[in-house]
Amino acid sequence: MTQVYNFSAGPAVLPRDVLLQAQQELLDWHGSGMSVMEMSHRGKEFMSIIHEAETDLRQLMGIPANYKVLFLQGGALSQFAMVPLNLLGDKKSIDVVNTGHWSKLAIKEARKFAEVNIVASSEDRQYTYVPDPASWRTSPDAAYLHYVSNETIGGVQFPYIPDSTVPLVCDMSSDILSRAVDVSRFGLIFAGAQKNIGPSGLTLVIVREDLLGQLPAHMPTMYDYRVHADADSMYNTPPTYAIYIAGLVFKWLKQQGGVPGMASRNEEKAGLLYHAIDSSQGFYHCPVETPFRSRMNVPFRLGSPELEAAFLAEAEQRNLLQLKGHRSVGGMRASIYNAMPLEGVKTLASFMVDFARRHG
Ligand code: PMP
Repeated sequence: MTQVYNFSAGPAVLPRDVLLQAQQELLDWHGSGMSVMEMSHRGKEFMSIIHEAETDLRQLMGIPANYKVLFLQGGALSQFAMVPLNLLGDKKSIDVVNTGHWSKLAIKEARKFAEVNIVASSEDRQYTYVPDPASWRTSPDAAYLHYVSNETIGGVQFPYIPDSTVPLVCDMSSDILSRAVDVSRFGLIFAGAQKNIGPSGLTLVIVREDLLGQLPAHMPTMYDYRVHADADSMYNTPPTYAIYIAGLVFKWLKQQGGVPGMASRNEEKAGLLYHAIDSSQGFYHCPVETPFRSRMNVPFRLGSPELEAAFLAEAEQRNLLQLKGHRSVGGMRASIYNAMPLEGVKTLASFMVDFARRHG
């Protein structure tokens, strides 16, 4: 099999050991004679899988007992509607920090349900930084404060968890499990699975119990966090195979030293790429201001569209794949989630040095 390194922003690379185990267990899970795909979600086999996945996730993230873990579907984008619908309660407005593409989309969707107060925006400098919290115009009457911990397209990552007097809601789709976070600081965390958790089709929600039960009665039952919480994510058929793979990823993470182990490896990997960029004497350029550079998605530009096309073509020849930036911004983007091996990043960094030497 060809060794490739896949820098896709998501769906993204999964740990090889996880895929190998899934392959071994594909036809016969633990002597059940069935594939996980074929199992009833209410049977004892799958119940043990989802239970173990939740237990491992709770341990990895240190999720307090008064938080529910929901295994849902519909992607992070569904959460852009479900969060305001469920958390607005008798309030009228919500607060949002606008740091780029995924903030803007969340704002647009929330405006269907609530007054949206943009407390701060980095649009003035093309979304290349996180506005200083001291300047945020937050409102004590907001139902919650929403932010995106890592803007996947712009490559802008919050280096801290912001303080908030109202419940803090975080779209952690692209950096969940990549560094330690104190879950008790949040009212709700959500994430699409397809970057650091597992295959697409699974959406994770971690929500403080006291925030449940606020969905207006005329809303669809499937949008109600409390219904899913009360049914242990079994109100309807959950994405069983994606949950199984997520469970294997959580076990793999535990073997890698858990979240702290992953965090230090992520620092090292990102450091290699930013070093390649910063020491290239301007051949490569990362638009993001240094303190807010993402450890997960590293965007960079070269001097001309022709050079960028040549870079992508040569990279592909060397099996360094999916480095093209998002269509809305162009350039390159190397997504280096938890499962991207150090070796892959080293290979990319040395290719970058070599390419700059030949084309500089
Ligand atoms: N938020 C962030 C930060 C994302 O990166 C993405 C997907 N790239 C989304 C939301 C949308 O997720 P989904 O496609 O799972 O709905």
